Amino acid sequence: MSKTYWVETYGCQMNLSDSELMEGVLASSGYAQVSAPEDADVILVNTCAIREHAEQRVLGRVAELNRVKRERPGTLIGVCGCMAQRLGTQLIERAEHVDMVIGPDAYRSLPQLIDQAARDGGGVVDVELKDSENYEGLELRRKSQVSAWIPIQRGCDYRCTFCIVPFTRGPEKNREPDAVLREIEEQAAEGITEFTLLGQTVNSYRYGDWDFPRLLRAVARLPGVRRVRFTSPHPNDLTRGLVEVMAEEDAVCPQLHLPVQSGSDRVLKRMARRYTRAEYMAKVGMLRDAIPHIALGTDIIVGFPGEDETDFEATLDLVRSVRYDDAFTFRYSAREGTPSTRMDQDWVVPDHVAQGRLERLIALVREIAAEKNLAEVGKVAGVLVEKRARRGDLLQARTDTYKVVLIPGPEDWIGRYMRVALTGTSGATFTGFPVEP
Ligand code: SF4
Repeated sequence: MSKTYWVETYGCQMNLSDSELMEGVLASSGYAQVSAPEDADVILVNTCAIREHAEQRVLGRVAELNRVKRERPGTLIGVCGCMAQRLGTQLIERAEHVDMVIGPDAYRSLPQLIDQAARDGGGVVDVELKDSENYEGLELRRKSQVSAWIPIQRGCDYRCTFCIVPFTRGPEKNREPDAVLREIEEQAAEGITEFTLLGQTVNSYRYGDWDFPRLLRAVARLPGVRRVRFTSPHPNDLTRGLVEVMAEEDAVCPQLHLPVQSGSDRVLKRMARRYTRAEYMAKVGMLRDAIPHIALGTDIIVGFPGEDETDFEATLDLVRSVRYDDAFTFRYSAREGTPSTRMDQDWVVPDHVAQGRLERLIALVREIAAEKNLAEVGKVAGVLVEKRARRGDLLQARTDTYKVVLIPGPEDWIGRYMRVALTGTSGATFTGFPVEP
């Protein structure tokens, strides 16, 4: 009987994609996926280290999974991803029921590491960042038959002072363009039509004489590719050449998640984001001039050390100026080892102040998004039907601007492009119905 696995994923799209990779490695070694952790021989938790809260959640979940181990002796628990990379052996010291701690550059060796843990009764740690690991030749076990994430880059060469990623993912490594294009061609031949290129600063991609605009254009022109997105770009690498490709290539979606983090120059400088508010706004202007209907999203941190009310007001003002379609908003979380933790203790923003700012920011972001979405009601939009929605008998579809539309329809519409009338909005998502069969 084949061995079984269960993978749980926390964090970003790169982690979701990495979980597909881990599942692919396990499947090609004869492991079978099960539908509940209680039935698994191996449980892997793919983690995020970007915020303290995310790590606490994972530790709580891993403690819960220990119950499975007690009821099913022999089950192995592995912690993978950024938290594994950050804590290494400390993780086993803090949670002794964890058998394996596996960093992102060790996923190729998962079957061997699992065998080793079974033989030695746990205690397996592999968190070495390997220059030689290029992730080529690994089959991903894709969850969607409609859309695919394509990692084109790993690691990051920026050093934002709040960010743990350069420590957990190492320096930037880019994939060979031929390998990227071949993978997309293969997926397109199997019927996938929407592709999202992934990287920590995806648009800083460079390989030989290939840069990101060239790669994006080549992807957009592959047969069978109907939609291309990319995330997350760094504002500094958003060049005129890239905006031209976005505007010229029909397959490139009119949507971008462009992290700003703060609207205050003082805070941006302390974060080492390497752009000013004016420079960021100029990039937004360049995008909107070339693609007037582009939908913009962002990431914003409040309560960064030294942020005062004036800085925060500058962030609110920037949000009002850009009028984002969506924003991921966070309270600053100090990550051990990052430069921001060594800043003056007097600069620490009290929790209640940061929380108050976060709530004001969320309210503003929601208000703007709802206003923008309300203005779309009554219009017709092109959507790709992605999957069955979580509630009711509806299907979840997405516009090229990355907005969710819930529509009634049969399951065999999944994977189809259709035009839908937008009939209502909850503020964040739409309801609609097809105007063409
Ligand atoms: S660009 Fe900055 S925030 Fe983004 S991954 Fe790199 S260091 Fe982190």
